[in-house]
Formats: sequence, structure tokens, C-alpha cells
Amino acid sequence: MVYPVGDERYIFIMNELDSSENVRENATQKKVSTIQNTYLFSMYIDLADDSTSSLNISEISEDAVHATISYSEWRMMIVNMIGQDDQKLFLERTDPEYLKKNFIPGRTSSFDCLMMNLEGKYIWVKLIFSRAQTTNEDDYRFVFMVQNIHEDSVKLFDELKKYEELALTDALTEVYNHGRVETEIRNALDSRKKYDKKVSTLILDIDHFKNVNDTFGHSVGDNILKHFASLVKDYVKDDGAVVGRWGGEEFVVVYYDLDFAEVQNKAEGLRDSIENTDFPGVGKVTCSIGLTEMTKADSVESAFERMDKAMYNAKSEGRNCVRFL
Ligand code: GH3
Ligand code: MG
Ligand code: MG
Repeated sequence: MVYPVGDERYIFIMNELDSSENVRENATQKKVSTIQNTYLFSMYIDLADDSTSSLNISEISEDAVHATISYSEWRMMIVNMIGQDDQKLFLERTDPEYLKKNFIPGRTSSFDCLMMNLEGKYIWVKLIFSRAQTTNEDDYRFVFMVQNIHEDSVKLFDELKKYEELALTDALTEVYNHGRVETEIRNALDSRKKYDKKVSTLILDIDHFKNVNDTFGHSVGDNILKHFASLVKDYVKDDGAVVGRWGGEEFVVVYYDLDFAEVQNKAEGLRDSIENTDFPGVGKVTCSIGLTEMTKADSVESAFERMDKAMYNAKSEGRNCVRFL
């Protein structure tokens, strides 16, 4: 199974079949009789004469109970019950030529899609094709089955969502991690170029953070990082800006749709609110902020370089200040 998780990334899940389920060693007939009851419907297909038989449908649709329907007619009828996003896949994978080409005798394969049930609700189903065991190369009999996998799929998607969030979150500070924020910058630049969206990015680097560790210990340092990150997150959330930990004691914020002058004010306000926060066990913590507005001519690297340079200017001009380039 392949599930998209965004940003052109996919999660692949492979199920290992139990050896007793190994199709090649089992007669198709036997297999059908054991699992018949747990499936929404099953039928026989003969691609050699484009026929279907023994349709037994319990839940999907009463209209489909039609013993004499040809396979091609059936396919065109069922495609209307498949979720719109999955129709192309359905037509591809149920194409007689596809089935003939990809199924050696005894071979079983399946794919998941959304299908409308009797109540008109889309549910996740597994569509399974299994070619009969045969030595006759012109024998293209298949068993087709629909399994209701809705509950498990929904559970799985929830799990995947959790794992996805974990994979994108910095474990210590619970803001986005380096990889995720890098993707954000890349996508932001894209929308700058394609949709003329205003984008500004800033980097915050905590001042003399090494001293915090040296004076109070590493675990106090960790707590300061957490506290710092949550301050930044709270400060920018009403503007829909995105926060990530770039690494160590450096954080990046991506602002959208704001004039650069406004972002400068925001950055100054953020710096000020950090300076005036009492960090537990440490007291005052300050940061230096580098700020830049993305242009259409930018690359991720050029925008980042400017922002970084601005931050170093803030450092060299006394720290606890905002600089932009
Ligand atoms: P500057 O004002 O020039 O930025 O000085 P600085 O001390 O903040 O900068 P420097 O780069 O010298 O030191 C960064 C420190 O951040 C050193 C490193 O031990 C500390 N650090 C990085 N990641 C973590 C972390 O996850 N936890 C803790 N406690 N410290 C960290
Ligand atoms: Mg640093
Ligand atoms: Mg620092």
C-alpha cells in the first residue's frame, strides 16, 4: 500500500502473506470458501469470453446483482461507485489486458480504494484479483473479491498521521525540525515566485547560549531552549507564521503575506518580548535576529545566506537586536 504524506513523500507498507495464504500452493476454490463470509462480495470473471458469474453481493450495491453481466459492462458500472480520486487506478488495474499481462496462473494481487456502500458512504475497501491456477495459457479465469478494510484503514491513517508529525517535529522543543522548516522555506519561495505571495524569513540565535550551559548545566540549557521555542511559537501564531528549530540554539520563522516593514516590527516585538521574559532558573535571555524578504530572483540558498548575514550583523553590532538585508 502506498500512502501520500505530502511534499512528494510516500509511505510504503508491505504485508507479508502467511505461508498458508500462499496462493500458488492453494487451490483457488478452497481459498474462496474460507474467506467468502468476511468479504463484501466476490465473483468469478472469465476474461477469455468477457463474462462474470456467481455474483454474490451483500453490502455494496443491489444493482450489481446481475448474473449475466459481461466483465466490461461490470467494470464500467462499478467505476461509478469508486471514489473519484481512485477511478483512474481502478480502470488501470481492472483492465483485462493489465490483468492478463500481470497475473501468472495462481497469482493474487490487490489494491485499496474508496468505494460507495449501500448507504451512499465511501468506505475503504481492498479489491482483490486472483487468477485461477491453470496450465492452459488461454485460461483467464479470475476470482474477484471486495474486502471491507475501512476500520483498519482509518486506524492506520491516524497512526500514520502521528508518525508523520513525529518525523517533522523537533523532539526537544516541539516546533518543526530542520528538515520540515527547510521544506517550508522551499515551498515559501515557490509561492513567492508562482503566486507572488509575500514571504519574509527570520533567524533567531540565542546570545551567549554557551554561557547558559556552562553556568547552569546542560539540562537547564535544554529547558531554556524549550521555553524559548514556545515563546516564539506563541508570538507568531496569530500571524500564521511557521516556526522551526534550525539547529542548536537557532530558530527560523517564516512569515507570509505581510509587508516587510510590518515583519520588521514583528521581529522587534519578538526580540523585546524575549528580552523581557524571566526564564526560570536563568533570568534574562536575549537573541539576535536576522531578517530578509524573499525576492523572485532568490534561491533557497541566496535567501538563507542574506538572512544569516543579517543575523551575524546583529551579533557583531552588540547582540540583542534585529538586522535585515
Ligand atoms: P553567540 O551569542 O555568538 O551566538 O554565542 P553562543 O554561545 O550562543 O554561540 P555558540 O555557537 O558558541 O554556542 C552555541 C551553544 O549552544 C553551544 C552548544 O553547547 C549549545 N547547544 C546546542 N544545542 C543544544 C542543545 O540541544 N541543548 C543545550 N543545552 N545546548 C545546546
Ligand atoms: Mg548559533
Ligand atoms: Mg548563539
